[in-house]
Order: sequence, then structure tokens, then C-alpha cells
Amino acid sequence: MTESVVIRPAAIEEVAAAVRRANNESLPVTVVAGGHGPWSHGTAPGLRIELAEIADITVEGTTVHVGGGAVWGDVAAALAPLGLTISSGDTATVGVGGLSLGGGIGWMVRAWGLAIDQLIGAQVVTATGDVVEVSATENADLFWALRGGGGNFGIVTRFDFAAHALDGIVFAENALAADPVVVLRTARDVMRDAPRELTVTYMDVPAMDPSAPAGASLSAVWAGTDADRLREALAPISEIDGVSTAITTPAYRDILMVPPTPPEGEEQLPPGFIGGNGLFARLDDDLIDRLVAFRTSYPASVVFLRSLGGAFGEIEQESTAFPAREATWFVMAGAFDIPGLVDDDARARILADWKQIEQGRIAEYGNFAPTERPEAVPGMFTSEAHARLTEIKRAWDPENLFRRNHNIAP
Ligand SMILES: Cc1cc2nc3c(=O)[nH]c(=O)nc-3n(C[C@H](O)[C@H](O)[C@H](O)COP(=O)(O)OP(=O)(O)OC[C@H]3O[C@@H](n4cnc5c(N)ncnc54)[C@H](O)[C@@H]3O)c2cc1C
Repeated sequence: MTESVVIRPAAIEEVAAAVRRANNESLPVTVVAGGHGPWSHGTAPGLRIELAEIADITVEGTTVHVGGGAVWGDVAAALAPLGLTISSGDTATVGVGGLSLGGGIGWMVRAWGLAIDQLIGAQVVTATGDVVEVSATENADLFWALRGGGGNFGIVTRFDFAAHALDGIVFAENALAADPVVVLRTARDVMRDAPRELTVTYMDVPAMDPSAPAGASLSAVWAGTDADRLREALAPISEIDGVSTAITTPAYRDILMVPPTPPEGEEQLPPGFIGGNGLFARLDDDLIDRLVAFRTSYPASVVFLRSLGGAFGEIEQESTAFPAREATWFVMAGAFDIPGLVDDDARARILADWKQIEQGRIAEYGNFAPTERPEAVPGMFTSEAHARLTEIKRAWDPENLFRRNHNIAP
């Protein structure tokens, strides 16, 4: 089959029927939830199973059942009136499916860990078209693999999360007209002993990046309503010359970004990206210098950091498939590959600089890897986790039906 057939199942049985059809007709399968992953762009031949109609959100106490096609903005909006929150990512339109299966680094990552650290169960349509429940006590191997192993193991039609009671947040936006080396070193020092309620991100982007306003900024979220504690924790950063801090108390759901939507029918493919990401144990001076030099050298480049540690680091390494629990920072840097602005020489220089930066990383975070690179997949896991994922893949999807992902080859 060379054409792409789009299926939008509205019920679990229809997902199972689509999987059986893919098996019977040997059709490649693309699974789409929020549509932000690399495999959702464009039209690949085969069956494209779009889960958007399976997006119910129901709440029982603090347990939240979320359909496999829901997006995080809808989850946050549904939970807000109940005073509940699940740590997700930073963007409302990102899917619960893709983000959760890859890990999910969000604003509460230091308070509560990754999105998967709140996952307590799921319903999965397997490669045979069977529907199974998974949890710590039922199909525990599959439950383990879903927490970081990506879309390799089946189609998740329902995620069950344990939500947290949260009476509010405090948000600080620090506009930076300051020496980025000083800001980053100070942020690193602040976060070393920071309370887990505090999570920060640093972003330095050019005017052309649609995802954020141009320039450097450091945003901070405090999980709780105590603005003074946030102010106190951030004081060493706010006191730097050229930093202006604005503190507000928005609802959690309102800090999730909503990227601009392209006009109906016009898919905007993201520009090429030369660079990468990594989970780092330490943000040392050398790494900071390299990141700042990278951003300065290439006008159309992005540098993006998120603090980790806290609850993220307290989850035992082996208890999920996600790598690098000892990481204290997530780092991403790259330049947009714009024809006319970037030639082969520039491309080679940018890549060489990124290769220097990535030297010290513990692992790559698959969810922020913008393209499929099969050779890179082992570097997204510990070697033990990769071996275990391979075994679980053999058991649940030996024919590799679910291969349009960072693929664990069976
Ligand atoms: C604007 C933007 C902001 C982002 N912010 C964050 C962030 O703050 N934190 C973070 O950790 N990541 C973030 N990411 C990365 C994001 O987590 C990944 O791109 C993720 O894969 C997107 O999930 P999706 O459901 O929207 O995409 P999709 O393209 O729909 O899904 C990605 C892949 O996940 C698998 N998949 C999805 N749903 C299911 C399902 N129900 N069952 C089985 N397999 C499934 C499929 O293999 C699919 O190809 C961001 C990405 C973008 C573009």
C-alpha cells in the first residue's frame, strides 16, 4: 500500500479492529495523539490511527482516567475546578500519549517527577488487537515499558494517573538583559539546594522561533501559593544586574503554552534542527560556556535548559524505563537549518559544536529528538533498560507492528 488511510476510532473496539486490519493486510501503522511527534507530520503510507476522539477525562477521587488521544491542556482544564494537577509538559496542545510514553518533563518535575511517575495504570490495545489492562500488578512488564519506552508496545487507549492536590502556583518571569554566563551559573547554584517546589527553565531563542518571544528568559514555577518563598529562592538571580523579575499567580492550566495553529489544511513542517539534547548530571562551567558560545555564534539558534533533581531524582532508576535519574539538568541546543542562511560549512560547524556539548550527557531524551534516528535509540536508555525493553518488545510485538517511533527492534 502506498497511500495513507486515516482512521479516527471513537471506541476501543475500533482501535482493536484497526490493529487487526493492519496485521491482516500487512499495513504500516502510525499512531497519532497530540500530533507533535516526528512521525505525525506528513503522510506515511499505511494506516494512520488518530486517537483524537478517544479523549475522555474522568476523575475518581485523585485518580484521573485520560483517553489515549487527549491533550494536556484539556486535562489541566478538567482538573482545575477540582484543585487537582498532573505534571505534564509546558504546552497545552501536546498529547498525553506521546509525552507520557516518552517520560514527560514538565513544570512540576521537581515537585512530583515526570508525567510517567504519576502513571498508575493503563489500557492497551496490543499488537494482536487484544485489549489488556496494565499496572504494577497486572502485566507489570508492559506497564514498566510504557513508562519511558515510547509507543513501541501497543496503543494506549486509557492512561490512569494519580493526580496531586494543588491550591495554586506562583510564576516568575525573569527577562534577561544580563550576562548569560552569570545567569546560568547563578541558576545552577540556586537549583543545587532549591526546594523541590521550585522548577526553572532557561530559554534563549531568536525572533524567528514561533514557540517563544525572542531573547533570553528564565521562567520559574513554584508548586504552591507562597510567593515570598519563590521570591526568596530566586533572589540571587533577581539581584543580577540586567534581570527584571515579574511575579504572578496564574492557574496552572494558564501557564501551558498554546502554539499558533496553522491555517486549516496547511501543515507547517518544523524547520530542520542541527543540534540535539541531553540529560546531564551537572551543569558545569565548561558546559555553560559552550552553550553561551553556541547561541552567540549562530543567530538562528536556540538554547533551552530545564532544572531536574528533586522528586525526579528520587525515583529508582530501574523502576521505569526512563534514563538518567541522576540528571540535574535537561539541555537542548541547536540551530535551525534555514536554506540560504545555513550552508554545508556552517552545518558542519554547528554539528561539531553540538557534538562537543553533548560529550558529557548521560542520555538523550527521545521526546525532544526531532527526527527518527534508529542508531541513537540505545543512547536514550540505560543499557539494562534497553535490553529489558527489547525482551518486552519481543514478547508483545515480535513483528514490530509499532515501529514508527524511536524503535526498539524486537
Ligand atoms: C511545542 C512542543 C512543546 C513540547 N513540550 C514538551 C514538554 O514540556 N515536556 C516534554 O517532555 N516534552 C515536550 N515536547 C515533546 C513531546 O513530548 C513529544 O513531541 C511527544 O512525542 C508529543 O506527543 P504527541 O502525542 O503530541 O505527539 P504524537 O505525534 O501524536 O505522538 C508521538 C508518538 O508517540 C506515540 N504515541 C502517542 N500516543 C500514543 C498512544 N496513545 N498509544 C501508543 N503510542 C502513542 C506514537 O509512537 C507517536 O508517533 C514538546 C513538543 C513540542 C512540539
